[in-house]
Amino acid sequence: MPELPEVEALRLGLLNHLIGRKIETIQVFKPKLVYSNSNKRIECSYKKNEFETELKDQVFKSIKRRAKNLIFEFESGKIMLVHLKMTGQMVYQDSNVTTLGGHPIQLSENKLPNKHSHIIFDLDKGQLFYNDTRMFGYVLYFPSMQEFEKRDHFKGLGLEPMSEEFTLDYFKAGLKKKNKSIKSVFLEQSVVVGLGNIYCDETCFLAKVRPDRLCKSLNDDEIENLYHYAKLVIDHAIKEGGSSVANYLLADGSKGNYAFFHNVYQKSGQPCKTCKKPLSKIQHAQRSTVFCESCQK
Ligand SMILES: [Zn+2]
Repeated sequence: MPELPEVEALRLGLLNHLIGRKIETIQVFKPKLVYSNSNKRIECSYKKNEFETELKDQVFKSIKRRAKNLIFEFESGKIMLVHLKMTGQMVYQDSNVTTLGGHPIQLSENKLPNKHSHIIFDLDKGQLFYNDTRMFGYVLYFPSMQEFEKRDHFKGLGLEPMSEEFTLDYFKAGLKKKNKSIKSVFLEQSVVVGLGNIYCDETCFLAKVRPDRLCKSLNDDEIENLYHYAKLVIDHAIKEGGSSVANYLLADGSKGNYAFFHNVYQKSGQPCKTCKKPLSKIQHAQRSTVFCESCQK
Protein backbone atom coordinates (compact mmCIF):
# COMPACT_ATOMS: atom_id res chain seq x y z
CA MET A 1 0.00 0.00 0.00
CA PRO A 2 1.54 3.35 -0.97
CA GLU A 3 2.00 5.48 2.16
CA LEU A 4 2.08 9.29 2.48
CA PRO A 5 5.66 9.83 1.20
CA GLU A 6 5.01 7.70 -1.90
CA VAL A 7 1.78 9.61 -2.66
CA GLU A 8 3.64 12.92 -2.19
CA ALA A 9 6.33 11.71 -4.61
CA LEU A 10 3.63 10.89 -7.19
CA ARG A 11 2.06 14.33 -6.71
CA LEU A 12 5.39 16.09 -7.30
CA GLY A 13 6.05 14.00 -10.41
CA LEU A 14 2.61 14.62 -11.95
CA LEU A 15 2.83 18.37 -11.20
CA ASN A 16 5.70 18.63 -13.70
CA HIS A 17 3.58 17.25 -16.54
CA LEU A 18 -0.11 17.93 -15.91
CA ILE A 19 -0.41 21.62 -15.02
CA GLY A 20 -1.82 23.47 -18.04
CA ARG A 21 -2.68 20.21 -19.87
CA LYS A 22 -6.23 19.87 -21.22
CA ILE A 23 -8.29 16.66 -21.09
CA GLU A 24 -9.67 15.92 -24.56
CA THR A 25 -11.46 12.63 -23.93
CA ILE A 26 -11.96 10.23 -21.03
CA GLN A 27 -12.79 6.53 -21.08
CA VAL A 28 -13.97 4.89 -17.87
CA PHE A 29 -13.89 1.09 -18.27
CA LYS A 30 -14.77 0.26 -14.65
CA PRO A 31 -17.61 2.57 -13.59
CA LYS A 32 -17.45 1.39 -9.98
CA LEU A 33 -14.12 3.25 -9.58
CA VAL A 34 -15.85 6.61 -10.15
CA TYR A 35 -19.00 5.77 -8.16
CA SER A 36 -18.07 6.51 -4.55
CA ASN A 37 -15.49 6.02 -1.84
CA SER A 38 -17.69 3.68 0.20
CA ASN A 39 -17.45 -0.10 0.26
CA LYS A 40 -20.58 -0.23 -1.84
CA ARG A 41 -19.54 0.33 -5.45
CA ILE A 42 -22.07 0.15 -8.23
CA GLU A 43 -21.42 -0.06 -11.97
CA CYS A 44 -23.54 3.05 -12.45
CA SER A 45 -23.77 4.44 -15.98
CA TYR A 46 -24.99 7.83 -14.69
CA LYS A 47 -21.79 8.40 -12.67
CA LYS A 48 -19.60 7.11 -15.53
CA ASN A 49 -21.28 9.49 -18.00
CA GLU A 50 -21.07 12.38 -15.57
CA PHE A 51 -17.34 11.75 -15.01
CA GLU A 52 -16.59 11.49 -18.73
CA THR A 53 -18.70 14.51 -19.68
CA GLU A 54 -17.92 16.91 -16.86
CA LEU A 55 -14.14 16.44 -16.97
CA LYS A 56 -13.88 16.69 -20.76
CA ASP A 57 -12.10 19.90 -21.87
CA GLN A 58 -10.90 20.60 -18.32
CA VAL A 59 -7.44 22.13 -17.82
CA PHE A 60 -5.33 21.01 -14.82
CA LYS A 61 -4.65 23.91 -12.46
CA SER A 62 -3.17 22.32 -9.32
CA ILE A 63 -2.61 19.04 -7.50
CA LYS A 64 -2.85 19.06 -3.72
CA ARG A 65 -2.54 16.24 -1.21
CA ARG A 66 -4.33 15.54 2.09
CA ALA A 67 -3.08 12.41 3.88
CA LYS A 68 -3.02 9.87 1.01
CA ASN A 69 -5.65 11.64 -1.13
CA LEU A 70 -4.69 13.55 -4.26
CA ILE A 71 -6.92 16.52 -5.10
CA PHE A 72 -6.75 17.59 -8.75
CA GLU A 73 -8.18 21.07 -9.27
CA PHE A 74 -9.12 22.34 -12.74
CA GLU A 75 -9.12 25.94 -13.98
CA SER A 76 -12.95 25.89 -14.00
CA GLY A 77 -12.98 25.05 -10.28
CA LYS A 78 -14.03 21.42 -10.86
CA ILE A 79 -12.35 18.78 -8.69
CA MET A 80 -11.14 15.19 -9.13
CA LEU A 81 -10.25 13.25 -5.99
CA VAL A 82 -7.98 10.18 -6.23
CA HIS A 83 -7.15 7.60 -3.56
CA LEU A 84 -4.89 4.73 -4.66
CA LYS A 85 -5.77 2.48 -1.69
CA MET A 86 -3.97 -0.92 -1.90
CA THR A 87 -3.04 -1.27 -5.56
CA GLY A 88 -3.82 1.96 -7.45
CA GLN A 89 -1.27 3.52 -9.76
CA MET A 90 -1.20 6.67 -11.89
CA VAL A 91 0.90 7.01 -15.01
CA TYR A 92 1.47 9.99 -17.27
CA GLN A 93 3.00 9.21 -20.62
CA ASP A 94 3.85 11.17 -23.74
CA SER A 95 6.33 10.54 -26.56
CA ASN A 96 9.26 11.59 -24.36
CA VAL A 97 8.46 10.60 -20.79
CA THR A 98 6.72 8.04 -18.64
CA THR A 99 6.00 9.21 -15.12
CA LEU A 100 4.39 6.83 -12.67
CA GLY A 101 3.72 6.36 -9.00
CA GLY A 102 1.79 4.24 -6.54
CA HIS A 103 1.60 0.48 -6.69
CA PRO A 104 4.15 -1.32 -8.89
CA ILE A 105 2.43 -2.95 -11.85
CA GLN A 106 5.22 -4.39 -13.96
CA LEU A 107 3.16 -4.22 -17.17
CA SER A 108 3.03 -0.44 -16.90
CA GLU A 109 6.77 -0.24 -17.28
CA ASN A 110 6.58 -1.45 -20.86
CA LYS A 111 2.98 -1.62 -22.05
CA LEU A 112 0.19 0.95 -21.77
CA PRO A 113 -2.71 0.71 -21.69
CA ASN A 114 -2.78 -2.76 -20.13
CA LYS A 115 -5.46 -4.97 -18.59
CA HIS A 116 -5.31 -2.93 -15.37
CA SER A 117 -5.84 0.45 -17.09
CA HIS A 118 -9.41 1.22 -16.01
CA ILE A 119 -9.56 4.96 -16.69
CA ILE A 120 -7.73 6.65 -19.58
CA PHE A 121 -7.50 10.42 -20.03
CA ASP A 122 -6.38 11.59 -23.48
CA LEU A 123 -4.73 14.98 -23.04
CA ASP A 124 -3.75 17.67 -25.54
CA LYS A 125 -0.27 16.27 -24.99
CA GLY A 126 0.15 12.71 -23.69
CA GLN A 127 -2.15 10.39 -21.75
CA LEU A 128 -2.94 9.83 -18.08
CA PHE A 129 -3.78 6.31 -16.90
CA TYR A 130 -5.43 5.14 -13.70
CA ASN A 131 -4.40 1.48 -13.24
CA ASP A 132 -5.52 -0.70 -10.35
CA THR A 133 -5.17 -4.49 -10.01
CA ARG A 134 -7.56 -5.04 -7.09
CA MET A 135 -9.71 -1.94 -7.65
CA PHE A 136 -10.13 -0.71 -4.07
CA GLY A 137 -9.09 2.80 -5.13
CA TYR A 138 -11.39 5.56 -6.31
CA VAL A 139 -11.39 8.52 -8.71
CA LEU A 140 -14.25 10.90 -7.97
CA TYR A 141 -15.65 13.99 -9.67
CA PHE A 142 -17.00 17.03 -7.80
CA PRO A 143 -18.44 20.14 -9.51
CA SER A 144 -16.59 22.56 -7.20
CA MET A 145 -14.40 22.81 -4.11
CA GLN A 146 -17.49 23.97 -2.19
CA GLU A 147 -19.41 20.83 -3.15
CA PHE A 148 -16.39 18.69 -2.32
CA GLU A 149 -15.98 20.29 1.11
CA LYS A 150 -19.67 19.72 1.88
CA ARG A 151 -19.03 15.96 1.78
CA ASP A 152 -16.56 16.32 4.65
CA HIS A 153 -14.40 13.72 2.97
CA PHE A 154 -11.49 14.20 5.38
CA LYS A 155 -13.61 14.03 8.52
CA GLY A 156 -11.73 12.48 11.44
CA LEU A 157 -8.28 12.87 9.87
CA GLY A 158 -5.56 14.29 12.10
CA LEU A 159 -3.05 16.94 11.08
CA GLU A 160 -0.29 16.65 8.47
CA PRO A 161 2.98 15.93 10.30
CA MET A 162 4.87 18.62 8.38
CA SER A 163 2.23 21.34 8.84
CA GLU A 164 2.69 24.35 11.12
CA GLU A 165 -0.45 23.42 13.06
CA PHE A 166 1.12 20.13 14.14
CA THR A 167 2.76 21.35 17.35
CA LEU A 168 4.12 19.44 20.34
CA ASP A 169 1.27 20.75 22.53
CA TYR A 170 -1.33 19.54 20.02
CA PHE A 171 0.35 16.12 19.78
CA LYS A 172 0.61 15.77 23.56
CA ALA A 173 -3.05 16.70 24.08
CA GLY A 174 -4.10 14.33 21.28
CA LEU A 175 -2.23 11.33 22.70
CA LYS A 176 -3.30 11.94 26.29
CA LYS A 177 -6.96 11.59 25.27
CA LYS A 178 -6.38 8.10 23.87
CA ASN A 179 -6.72 4.91 25.85
CA LYS A 180 -4.94 2.99 23.07
CA SER A 181 -1.43 2.02 21.99
CA ILE A 182 0.82 4.36 20.02
CA LYS A 183 0.58 2.13 16.97
CA SER A 184 -3.25 2.03 17.08
CA VAL A 185 -3.41 5.82 17.31
CA PHE A 186 -0.90 6.32 14.48
CA LEU A 187 -2.68 3.81 12.22
CA GLU A 188 -6.13 5.31 12.82
CA GLN A 189 -4.69 8.74 11.79
CA SER A 190 -7.00 10.69 14.10
CA VAL A 191 -4.18 12.73 15.68
CA VAL A 192 -1.58 12.80 12.90
CA VAL A 193 -1.66 11.31 9.38
CA GLY A 194 1.10 9.55 7.43
CA LEU A 195 2.44 7.19 10.09
CA GLY A 196 1.35 3.88 8.58
CA ASN A 197 2.99 0.55 9.34
CA ILE A 198 6.49 1.36 8.06
CA TYR A 199 6.82 4.88 9.41
CA CYS A 200 5.17 4.08 12.75
CA ASP A 201 7.64 1.29 13.56
CA GLU A 202 10.61 3.40 12.42
CA THR A 203 9.47 6.37 14.53
CA CYS A 204 9.01 4.21 17.65
CA PHE A 205 12.48 2.68 17.25
CA LEU A 206 14.16 6.09 17.07
CA ALA A 207 12.06 7.38 19.99
CA LYS A 208 12.99 4.26 22.02
CA VAL A 209 9.39 3.33 22.88
CA ARG A 210 7.53 0.13 22.02
CA PRO A 211 4.77 0.57 19.40
CA ASP A 212 2.35 -1.33 21.66
CA ARG A 213 2.85 1.06 24.63
CA LEU A 214 -0.37 2.68 25.81
CA CYS A 215 -0.38 6.40 25.02
CA LYS A 216 -1.48 7.32 28.53
CA SER A 217 1.62 5.61 29.98
CA LEU A 218 4.03 7.88 28.05
CA ASN A 219 5.93 10.58 29.94
CA ASP A 220 6.58 14.04 28.49
CA ASP A 221 10.09 13.19 27.28
CA GLU A 222 8.84 10.11 25.42
CA ILE A 223 6.03 12.11 23.77
CA GLU A 224 8.52 14.78 22.75
CA ASN A 225 10.79 12.12 21.22
CA LEU A 226 7.89 10.57 19.30
CA TYR A 227 6.92 14.04 18.03
CA HIS A 228 10.44 14.87 16.96
CA TYR A 229 11.15 11.54 15.23
CA ALA A 230 7.71 11.29 13.56
CA LYS A 231 8.44 14.60 11.79
CA LEU A 232 12.02 13.59 11.02
CA VAL A 233 11.06 10.17 9.59
CA ILE A 234 8.27 11.57 7.36
CA ASP A 235 10.40 14.50 6.17
CA HIS A 236 13.31 12.19 5.36
CA ALA A 237 11.05 9.63 3.60
CA ILE A 238 9.46 12.38 1.46
CA LYS A 239 12.92 13.66 0.49
CA GLU A 240 13.98 10.11 -0.44
CA GLY A 241 10.74 9.58 -2.38
CA GLY A 242 9.34 6.91 -0.07
CA SER A 243 10.33 3.32 0.59
CA SER A 244 11.02 0.72 -2.05
CA VAL A 245 10.28 -2.25 0.24
CA ALA A 246 7.28 -3.18 -1.86
CA ASN A 247 8.93 -1.80 -5.01
CA TYR A 248 6.89 1.38 -5.11
CA LEU A 249 7.88 3.28 -8.16
CA LEU A 250 8.38 7.01 -8.12
CA ALA A 251 7.04 9.46 -10.60
CA ASP A 252 10.42 9.78 -12.29
CA GLY A 253 10.62 5.99 -12.78
CA SER A 254 13.19 5.45 -10.03
CA LYS A 255 12.38 3.52 -6.87
CA GLY A 256 12.07 5.15 -3.48
CA ASN A 257 15.15 4.57 -1.42
CA TYR A 258 14.10 5.45 2.12
CA ALA A 259 14.17 1.66 2.60
CA PHE A 260 17.97 1.97 2.90
CA PHE A 261 17.37 3.83 6.15
CA HIS A 262 14.91 1.38 7.71
CA ASN A 263 16.03 0.26 11.16
CA VAL A 264 13.26 -2.21 11.97
CA TYR A 265 10.61 -2.54 9.25
CA GLN A 266 10.73 -6.11 7.79
CA LYS A 267 13.92 -6.78 9.79
CA SER A 268 12.66 -9.12 12.52
CA GLY A 269 15.37 -11.47 13.75
CA GLN A 270 18.14 -9.21 12.42
CA PRO A 271 20.46 -7.52 14.93
CA CYS A 272 19.31 -4.17 16.36
CA LYS A 273 21.53 -1.40 14.99
CA THR A 274 22.02 -0.04 18.51
CA CYS A 275 22.43 -3.06 20.84
CA LYS A 276 22.94 -5.92 18.31
CA LYS A 277 20.29 -8.14 19.94
CA PRO A 278 17.79 -9.71 17.50
CA LEU A 279 14.70 -7.59 16.72
CA SER A 280 11.33 -8.99 17.83
CA LYS A 281 8.16 -9.27 15.79
CA ILE A 282 4.63 -9.31 17.21
CA GLN A 283 1.14 -8.91 15.76
CA HIS A 284 -0.25 -5.68 17.11
CA ALA A 285 -3.19 -3.61 15.87
CA GLN A 286 -3.60 -6.34 13.24
CA ARG A 287 -0.22 -5.56 11.74
CA SER A 288 3.25 -7.08 11.91
CA THR A 289 5.17 -4.92 14.32
CA VAL A 290 8.95 -5.02 14.72
CA PHE A 291 10.93 -3.49 17.58
CA CYS A 292 13.91 -4.03 19.90
CA GLU A 293 12.89 -5.40 23.28
CA SER A 294 16.03 -4.10 24.93
CA CYS A 295 16.24 -0.56 23.43
CA GLN A 296 12.52 0.25 23.33
CA LYS A 297 10.56 0.56 26.57
ZN1 LIG B 1 18.38 -2.68 20.58
